[in-house]
Amino acid sequence: MGDIVTPLQPLLGAVEAGGTNIVCAVGSASGEVVDRVEFPTGAPAETLERAVDYFAGHEIAALGLGWFGPIEMRPSHARYGVIGPTPKEGWEGINVLGPFGALGTPVGLATDVAAAALGEGEWGASRGLRSHVYVTVGTGIGGAAVVDGEALAGLGHPEMGHVPVERARGDDFASVCPYHGGCLEGLASGSAVAARWGSPAESLGESEAAAAAALVTGYLAQGLRAIVYTLAPERIVVGGGVTALPGFHSRLRDEVAVSLARYPGLSEHLAKDFVVAPGLGDLAGVIGALVIARRTSEDPRLR
Ligand code: ZN
Repeated sequence: MGDIVTPLQPLLGAVEAGGTNIVCAVGSASGEVVDRVEFPTGAPAETLERAVDYFAGHEIAALGLGWFGPIEMRPSHARYGVIGPTPKEGWEGINVLGPFGALGTPVGLATDVAAAALGEGEWGASRGLRSHVYVTVGTGIGGAAVVDGEALAGLGHPEMGHVPVERARGDDFASVCPYHGGCLEGLASGSAVAARWGSPAESLGESEAAAAAALVTGYLAQGLRAIVYTLAPERIVVGGGVTALPGFHSRLRDEVAVSLARYPGLSEHLAKDFVVAPGLGDLAGVIGALVIARRTSEDPRLR
């Protein structure tokens, strides 16, 4: 009797493109990353070329992109894959899908935060849940909701970071959002923290970090309340560089409890596992992009 030979599963490609860094990786359909590079998100042409070059050196069955937005996500739209108005210099109007066409492999697209949400749903902190949300608090603030395994989207993708928030008493900081004077991202993103205290959240001194944690979690609680009331998720995962501030998640849970003011009175909203850190850590986005790649490889329309 001969050995049964299991054919190796083909590898998949994954990109997590954020406002600061891009991670390119090769991995399996079950979420193992086997190779990975990371480089700064620079000017569009050279950044895209570097990413395409990386994958040209690997044999992959499909590629999943988790890209920073705003970006046109409707495949039938003439501007599919094109970045919309953004403060990220040079990127407005750039088609991020086009250059990857040179690889001759099917390419699937989602936002970076939708990728992270899908990754957390498959293998991370939201595994097994029907409805969950991922919020990233980094350079900007973004959110994605997953229901029954699909990231919610309509005309565009959700822009949870731009919900309006009520200013903390005495806070007269000018918003860093060029579009809104009082949105969550404008007042509580990593860019806002850096502008308020003169250095990134990760490198603040002890007293400044404590002050930043108090202010940011207060604003985020307002954003999470809006999410709770509009989407009723079973869990909200909060990741991104700013969550490195001291006691971030427990403080945020407390602030959310205060903000909900016991309405609608669900004990789940007050539980320790309602607002949590990513189970996949910093890899949520790139592992989530593997989910997008796997689905793309299984989509008969794209073969
Ligand atoms: Zn805004």
